[in-house]
Amino acid sequence: MERTFIMLKPDCVKRGLVGEVISRIEKKGFEIAAMKMMSLGEDSLREHYAHLKDEPFFPDIVAYMTSGPVVAMIVRGDSAISSLRRLIGPTKYDEAQPGTIRGDFATSTRHNIIHASDSPESAESEIARFFK
Ligand code: ADP
Repeated sequence: MERTFIMLKPDCVKRGLVGEVISRIEKKGFEIAAMKMMSLGEDSLREHYAHLKDEPFFPDIVAYMTSGPVVAMIVRGDSAISSLRRLIGPTKYDEAQPGTIRGDFATSTRHNIIHASDSPESAESEIARFFK
């Protein structure tokens, strides 16, 4: 069993897609181990997206991620980290295949509905950051 950190982003909440996305995660056989709705501050985003802080689009990411509440989750299951990354689809809008969560619901590379940890190290540090 492995655990990963999932975040349903503000566009997911605003568009009423929380139930649909959670349902896909559960139907694939994963267990929601913890879940809460929260608002993100700029400081936690600077930590969470530290690898992007020098990108010209970083201020747009902050504006997007603080535009409304998010749903933070710990999700548990076999190979949860790699499986959830496959279930959500790739970051780039034009690479996300239909059938993936981003492929079906993202409206741009930025507005892409969902975050999932990309490695065991990031899963544990993101869980520690958002579920103190
Ligand atoms: P992922 O979310 O797939 O792990 P990254 O960590 O690279 O991907 O990016 C974090 C988030 O920043 C993305 O999910 C997306 O919302 C936004 N983002 C990434 N790259 C771009 C880009 N080129 N233009 C606009 N937004 C981007």
